[in-house]
Amino acid sequence: MLNEEKAVVVFSGGQDSTTCLFWAKQQFAEVEVVTFDYGQRHKQEIECAAAIAHDLGVQQTVLDMSLLNQLAPNALTRTDVEITHEEGELPSTFVDGRNLLFLSFAAILAKQKGARHLVTGVCETDFSGYPDCRDSFVKSMNVTLNLSMDYPFVIHTPLMWLDKAQTWKMADDLGAFDYVRERTLTCYNGVIGDGCGECPACKLRKAGLDRYVEQRAAAGSVGADVR
Ligand code: ZN
Repeated sequence: MLNEEKAVVVFSGGQDSTTCLFWAKQQFAEVEVVTFDYGQRHKQEIECAAAIAHDLGVQQTVLDMSLLNQLAPNALTRTDVEITHEEGELPSTFVDGRNLLFLSFAAILAKQKGARHLVTGVCETDFSGYPDCRDSFVKSMNVTLNLSMDYPFVIHTPLMWLDKAQTWKMADDLGAFDYVRERTLTCYNGVIGDGCGECPACKLRKAGLDRYVEQRAAAGSVGADVR
């Protein structure tokens, strides 16, 4: 059933947020996106997000968040910081407070636009150790936002409990499998689609994709309802 209200999707042009955008377009009568420019290594990320917003006919607001890089230089913004992820440690791509800030600014924008629904692609399942991607954080943030602006925001996290294979399935169920595969940018080296194949983001994405394609083929062979 279509919700007649309006939603704002936190949107980077990656696999997760693009899947969330397709999801939101199916759920809500009106959808807009907000993209944060925080000096990512690759300007392609902003361009890719703009191209997808244009393709899907949604209005995009790009907010300058360069202060984030000023506060917390990290591997996503600085070419002199190597992308590393040691077992049991936060990866060097982690930015303190990023999601806290993004959700705050997204909410302020959403309220101005008369939207109370926020959609974010954060996920606890393939948990990289980012504390502000956890369900408990998002729920806490939801309460804080509502109190701070005296406004009934609802934060939606459609991917929260999905693994990467299930996220591909969601895209497929939304009729967006090929689009998400070919047009989104997840790669830390700025290569759209299947990416460079070498960086941690590409490896995670490919592992999920391979698993989903395998599951789909297995389901297909027993005559289940798959495309
Ligand atoms: Zn890559």
